[in-house]
Formats: sequence, structure tokens, C-alpha cells
Amino acid sequence: MLAERIQQVEERIQNAACRAGRKREEITLIAVTKIFPASAIREAYELGLRHFGENYVQEFAGKRPELGGLSEATYHLIGHLQSNKSKIAADLFQVIQTVDSAKLARRLSECGHSLEVMIEVKVSGEGSKSGAAVEELPALVDAIRALPDVNLTGLMTMPPWSEDAELSRPYFRRLRELAQAHGLPHLSMGMSHDLEVAIEEGATHVRVGTALFGPRKYT
Ligand SMILES: *Cc1c(COP(=O)(O)O)cnc(C)c1O
Repeated sequence: MLAERIQQVEERIQNAACRAGRKREEITLIAVTKIFPASAIREAYELGLRHFGENYVQEFAGKRPELGGLSEATYHLIGHLQSNKSKIAADLFQVIQTVDSAKLARRLSECGHSLEVMIEVKVSGEGSKSGAAVEELPALVDAIRALPDVNLTGLMTMPPWSEDAELSRPYFRRLRELAQAHGLPHLSMGMSHDLEVAIEEGATHVRVGTALFGPRKYT
């Protein structure tokens, strides 16, 4: 079941990359495992996936002890991070994709883990609650680059959700332009329903939950 879904997502990524004249290796598939148990991460790892995205620090802290032995796994925090949880997040994740303030970046840098970070950008203005505003980006990029123990590699965004993936395109394009303007190589954008559009617009990281694990049942 999971094996088939991975295969389907893999084909979607390859087809989109091919259409866009890009190489498959330029795109990292991040399996989004929020709400799902540690066993889902382990199963996906055994089927070859290596990058995992989690939204909630506490939730992942509960799963982490069950994930021993997955030595090649990289864990990405893709949900909002409060600066008072930065220490525990720095211990759990190798990549923090949702940095949205200089204060948070400073806190993460103080943990001394040589973390990879991305800035979450609010490209839509309305809708999304978290993320740095586009106008704040130049100063934030400078502030993070001046810090010793965080390595700023890219931008991340989540456009307003829509059934129609094409509606995500202008937001993805905007993120790519912003990343280019700041010389940032990574673009984390695109989810289950709009990953093709994201790849066409230059995504280097797609974050896929539902298409791999099925619908999330919140209790
Ligand atoms: C849940 C989530 C995803 C995955 O969404 P799907 O539609 O299930 O693929 C991707 N990115 C973020 C930030 C998320 O919170």
C-alpha cells in the first residue's frame, strides 16, 4: 500500500521534472508524517525514503525515541516554531524550515548544532498566519547570515489551500523570485495536490503527506 503510493508520487515527481526540463535529483521528497505514528516513518524509511517532515515539536519528541537505527534519516520541522521551544527543536531536527524572525534564528544559533534553516515566507498576505512578510525578508536574510551556527539555505511557503493547483502557481513563482534575489538555492514548496506546479516553478523540496499516507484523521 505505502510502497504503491511512494511509486505513484515518485512518478508524479519524475513526470513534472521531465516536463520542466529538470533532473529528478534536484528534487527532495519530504514525507510529511504529522499525526501518523513512528511506525509510519520506519516503514517509509525501509521503503527508501530518507527525508521526513513534522509539524509539531512535542508530537515528534514523542516519536523520536522509537526511531533508533534510522541513521540516514533527515528530519525537517515544517510547522510553526515558538522561540521558547527552539532548544528542543534543535535537538530533534536537522532542518528548521519555518524560521520567521531574527529572534528565533538567534535562539536556534545559540543551540550550537550547525542547523540548516529556511525562512518561511508569507507570500499571500492574507490567510496564512505564520511566516515572515515579504518586506521583512531582506533584513531577516542579513540577520540570519550573520549568525554562526545556522546555515540559511532557502525559502519555504504554503500558499492558501485550493482545490485548483494552478492557483498556487503565482505564489510559487513569487517564492522562486525572492530566493533568486537573495541567492538562496533551496525552495520548499508544493504538497500532495500541487507538487507538479511547484516543481515546474523550481521547487527543490516537496512536502507530501496525504498522497503517501492517506487522509489524516484528527481525533
Ligand atoms: C501537512 C503539511 C504538508 C503536507 O500536506 P498534504 O496535503 O497532506 O500533502 C506540507 N506542508 C506543510 C507545512 C504541512 O503542514
